[in-house]
Amino acid sequence: MKIEIATLFPEMCENVLAESIIGRARKKGAVDISCRNIRDYTKDRHRRVDDSPYGGGMGMVMQADPIFNCFEAVCADLGERPHTIYMSPKGKNFTQSRAVELASYSSILIICGHYEGVDQRVIDEIVDEEISIGDYVLTGGELPALVVADAVARMCEGVLSDELCYQDESHYNGLLEYPQYTKPASWHGVDVPEVLLSGHHKNIETFRFEKSIEITRERRPDMYENYIKTHNIPCKK
Ligand code: SAM
Repeated sequence: MKIEIATLFPEMCENVLAESIIGRARKKGAVDISCRNIRDYTKDRHRRVDDSPYGGGMGMVMQADPIFNCFEAVCADLGERPHTIYMSPKGKNFTQSRAVELASYSSILIICGHYEGVDQRVIDEIVDEEISIGDYVLTGGELPALVVADAVARMCEGVLSDELCYQDESHYNGLLEYPQYTKPASWHGVDVPEVLLSGHHKNIETFRFEKSIEITRERRPDMYENYIKTHNIPCKK
C-alpha cells in the first residue's frame, strides 16, 4: 500500500517514519510511505503557501492552490486518485476499525493543515474525509497524520511479524487488552499470575479473555456494553 503525506514539514514526518517498526517495514517494502512538501507546489515566487483569512480574524490560512497542485502531482505519480484525508479537529474521531478499513485502499493521501487551517474550497474539491485524532487542537496536522499513518501501516501485511500481533490487541476485537507480564516471575514481591506459567494454553486463553472483559467493563463501559450486546454475553452488573 502507498501512503502519501502532504505537509509543510516533511522532515518532521520523515524522522518519525524512519524509526522502529515502520522504518524497518518501509525498508523491506512492506509499506510505501512518502512525504511531500506542499511548499514545492506553490507558484508564488516567495514560496508562500498561506494568507490572511477573508472576513478578518487571527492567524493565517493555507491557500487552496499549492494543496491542489500537490494533490494533482500525487495523482499523476500514483496513476490513480488516492483516497484523500484532511487531518482536522472537525473530523470524525479516528478508530482502530477505520485504520483497518483504510489499510485496504491501494493508496491514501493525508493532508496536514497548519496555522488556522486550510481554505475550505480545496477541502470541498479533493477531500474524501476529515479525520480527527481527538477532541483537542494541535498546532499542525503532522502529528495526527503520523498517528493515522502508523495505525494504518501496522495493519498492512508484512509490517508486523504476525497478524496475531494486532488481532489480540486493545480495540481490534472491541475489547481492551489483558495485562502483560515478562521476566522475572517475581518483581518487587509481586508474582506473575500462576496460570501464565502453567503452559496450559486453554486456561491462559480463558484467563486473558476474562481479564480483557474485566478491564473493559471497568475502564470503557461503552465498549463493554457494545461487546456483550454484539456477542450475546449475559450482562454482569
Ligand atoms: N482553526 C482550526 C479549528 O479551530 O478547527 C484549528 C487549526 S489547527 C491550529 C492547525 C491544523 O492542525 C489543522 O488544520 C489540522 O490539520 C491539525 N490538527 C489540529 N488538531 C487536530 C486534531 N485533533 N486532529 C486532527 N488534526 C488536527
